[in-house]
Amino acid sequence: MTTNPPSYPQVRLKHGRDKAARNRHPWVFSGAIERIEGEPAPGAAVDVVTSRGDFIARGLFNPASQIAVRLHAWDPSEHLDDAYWRRALACAIAARCDPGGDDPWLPTGGRRLVNAESDGLPGLVVDAYGEWVVLQALTLGIDVRKAAIVAALVDVLAAAGRAPAGIYERSDVDVRAKEALAPTVGVRYGEAPPDRVVIDEPGPADQALRFEVDVRAGHKTGFYLDQRLNRRRVAAWCRGRTVLNVFSYTGGFAVQALAAGARRVVNVDTSEAVLDGARRNLEANGLACEPADLVEADGFSHLRRCRALGESFDAVILDPPKLAASAGQVERAARAYKDANRVALQILRPGGILATFSCSGRVSADLFQKIVFAAAVDAGRDPQIVARLGQPPDHPVRLGFPEGEYLTGLICRDTPPVAGAGG
Ligand code: SAH
Repeated sequence: MTTNPPSYPQVRLKHGRDKAARNRHPWVFSGAIERIEGEPAPGAAVDVVTSRGDFIARGLFNPASQIAVRLHAWDPSEHLDDAYWRRALACAIAARCDPGGDDPWLPTGGRRLVNAESDGLPGLVVDAYGEWVVLQALTLGIDVRKAAIVAALVDVLAAAGRAPAGIYERSDVDVRAKEALAPTVGVRYGEAPPDRVVIDEPGPADQALRFEVDVRAGHKTGFYLDQRLNRRRVAAWCRGRTVLNVFSYTGGFAVQALAAGARRVVNVDTSEAVLDGARRNLEANGLACEPADLVEADGFSHLRRCRALGESFDAVILDPPKLAASAGQVERAARAYKDANRVALQILRPGGILATFSCSGRVSADLFQKIVFAAAVDAGRDPQIVARLGQPPDHPVRLGFPEGEYLTGLICRDTPPVAGAGG
């Protein structure tokens, strides 16, 4: 017996507005839509078709969002059913189990398992911290399918030998408002996670460093997994140096730098709770932490304070929060990045290291480099780039979805002027 395949409401695009979708860009903006045929419920699967009615891709509909459809499948035989979620999740998780690369996924490690659009799963973020899994549903289409996605996730992880102890939802992010979704958090499968999940992160010479992750109340899903490899790269440049770690969060760079042989690391953050986390992380790794190494202050003001007091460092790490959330904020963000980098260079000892980051997707790597250059000119310094940093392999960027690239960083070494004949 054969059954007819289900048919879907059709979202017909305006003439000349279908190129992005045909090139597998996953976002269909409401302004590109000519008309909608049928009456798709919010969150329903729809077919996106050309102005002539030819199938382009199948996606999930949200009339309340400027991105009216998120595209999932470019094959009309794909039905976005339970079997589809299982296959899509298996594909993303198999990539994390790939023994290739220099950063294997340890059973006790932290890893992003699903990076939304960049893994072909718009609206879904899944992070693993050891046996605890944290999920974020960022779109309506994913939100209404959460139960099926959680069930598929449990099956796929079990099949990969990584059965989760529990899955916790942290959908308490601002972007949900753009989808007319309220924040929601809670246990979605298995046991409730402990207050502090402990993970290992590879340190110098693959030594395992321990970090506590607060999956309930920590930033993002609890930890900045995206900086994992960069922490190690930067730490290697901190050996024997005194370091100022501005925007420290729970001391990720500090633990790595001290383990790599830094003489001292001073951490600055506005949040007392995260500084307390930094202290616990340093202690858990047997690393020195004086009260004076944890400074609760505004990072920008603290840099100026160091300058005013004549305090200098052999290395400065700048990892501020996202400063430009929209195109309109780029100019102001550029000024803030320039300001922080200028003062950081002014308090850097000759020959010192500046490790500087931006996680604002609106600030390209190219623009960021120009901003750091402008800061160096103002500071009267002439540093050289010794490493360019970006996202780790578990936060991949699809070529067809450049919006997925947000993290950029530079390790710069100050080059003191060569002493001249009279110097
Ligand atoms: N480097 C960290 C992540 C930094 S995230 C890691 O690898 O884990 C940015 C941090 O900046 C957050 O902890 C946030 O609390 C802090 N922050 C935000 N605004 C700040 C400000 N004005 N001054 C200092 N810290 C700030």
